[in-house]
This record gives sequence, C-alpha cells and structure tokens, in this order.
Amino acid sequence: SKLVSGLTKTRDNIVSGIDSIFSGFSNIDDDFYEELEEILIMADLGINTTTAIIEDLRAKVKENKIKEPKECKELLISSIKDQMKVGETAYEFEDKKSIVLLIGVNGVGKTTSVGKLAGQLKDMNKKVMVAAADTFRAAAIEQLTEWANRARVDIIAQQEGSDPAAVIYDAVTAAKARNVDVLICDTAGRLHNKKNLMEELKKIDRVIDREYKDAYRETLVVVDGTTGQNALAQAKQFSEIADVTGIILTKLDGTAKGGIAIAIQSELGIPVKYIGIGESIDDLQKFDADDFVNALFK
Ligand code: GDP
Repeated sequence: SKLVSGLTKTRDNIVSGIDSIFSGFSNIDDDFYEELEEILIMADLGINTTTAIIEDLRAKVKENKIKEPKECKELLISSIKDQMKVGETAYEFEDKKSIVLLIGVNGVGKTTSVGKLAGQLKDMNKKVMVAAADTFRAAAIEQLTEWANRARVDIIAQQEGSDPAAVIYDAVTAAKARNVDVLICDTAGRLHNKKNLMEELKKIDRVIDREYKDAYRETLVVVDGTTGQNALAQAKQFSEIADVTGIILTKLDGTAKGGIAIAIQSELGIPVKYIGIGESIDDLQKFDADDFVNALFK
C-alpha cells in the first residue's frame, strides 16, 4: 500500500536494527533491553516514550514467561500500540457544520494540507470552503487559490498583510450565507513571535465564538515529520496556546524519522488525525495507530 511504501525509510531505520537484536541476542537480559532502548530513541521515539515501551515490554515478557528474544517481537509491537492509545479518534467535522482551523509554523505543510483536505471532503460531496488567513505570506494565498481551483471549492481571501481575523470573519459570513458544510482555514505561524501568534489565534477564536458558535470546531496543529523531535516540541507548544483537537504529521514520505508519530501520540495524548505521505491530494491519509505500527513492522 501507499502507507507501507511511504514509510520505507522509517521502517529501515527502526526494523532493521530491531531485527538484528532479536536474532543477535540469545538471552533477554539488561544488555538486550539497553540495545533496544537505544534503537527506539535513535528512531525518534524519544526518551519518555521509549522508557514507557521498555517498561511495558519487560512486564509483558515476565507475564508471558518469554525466554527467547525472537519471541518478544510481537510483544514489542503490542507495547508500542498500547503506548499510542489515545481513545477513539473522531472525524465529527465530516458530518456536522464545521470550521476546521489549521495552525503551525511556516513551511510545515499547512496550506497544502488545507488543499488536500478540501479536495477530499469535496469528493465526499460536502460543500467546502477554504479561507486564506495566512495573510503573512503572499505565496500562501496564491497557493491556496490554486488548490481551491483544482478542488473546485470556494475560497475567501484578502490582500497580503490584512488582518487574519477579518478574513475569518468574511469566511464565516460567506459560509453561513452559502450553507457551507465545512469551512477550512489556513493560518500564519510565526512561533518566534509567540505573543503575537497567541493574540492572533485568540482573536480568530473570538470571531468564531461570536459569529459561528453553532459550528463544530476542530483545531489541527500541522507539524513536519522530517524534523523529528522538533515536531513533537512544536505540537506541544501549540497545544499550550490553543485548544488543539488533533495533529497533522506531514512529509513522512522520504524521512527516516517517522517514529515521531509514536512519540507525539504517546506523549501529548492528542490524536494524530492525518499523516502526509506525498504531495498529491490522496497523500493526506487518516491516521490509525495500529495500521501505522503494522506498516512499520511489515
Ligand atoms: P505552510 O507554510 O505550512 O503552508 O507549508 P506548505 O503547505 O506551503 O508546504 C511546504 C512544502 O511542503 C510544499 O512544497 C509542499 O508541497 C510540501 N509538503 C507538504 N506536505 C507534504 C507531504 O506530506 N509530503 C511531501 N513530500 N511534501 C509535502
């Protein structure tokens, strides 16, 4: 599948190392666990998640009275899956009048993800509108206009440099007038200017609270998978300044750092809702932790 091929480099990074210790060790001892720990940390799972996985694995090995390293691979897979449980991941915005906000720093793939999501929802026969509230970057407005044309969905945009909250106001007004099912909003992300960004997001929130309070609200942080631990740090920072309901992890194709998906879901307890595995519309896929781990260990 596309998921399996998209994760090739991450799989090579994690699984080849793991396979070599499952065959290289004859006992499940401290050295074995140490080496496994090192591989998981190197594969971008990070220290906290890795420690939790190893502890859980130790307990499972004991409980199942496993003696051979090669017998514990299935247990490791289930330990990883257990760490990623964040409850049911819902996509309620697909069935309700909704407003979906994409936030995240520049270059992570926000505009692209808005376009892909718009195209997919349009294909589900939803009435979709996009809002170009990344007014900081002129190219973002042009890029989103292209995506909107391609997906044949309406777009609300203003001049570069205009107030993002004003764009959202326009978009909400138009969405109500045109009976739009899902309004998807691109936003600007200058995290180095955290205070301004916070104010900007708060102002957008107030507009939505006031003008579109009956709409179902979804706020997705977009992070770039190729940045590994940095993606986790960014997702965490944004979750501190906004009511984040999910994460979009982009650019997993072509990176060996895909293990970060495991760390994000395990450490933040926020569901990864989509992953990006390429540049075309279909390359934004709903994320399922079990499918992801199965694809990794294929
Ligand atoms: P923004 O600044 O956050 O809006 O980022 P953009 O949407 O402009 O994306 C930045 C670059 O990343 C563009 O060249 C996109 O085509 C690329 N991109 C976005 N998502 C993916 C993905 O899942 N895979 C790959 N390979 N490229 C992506």
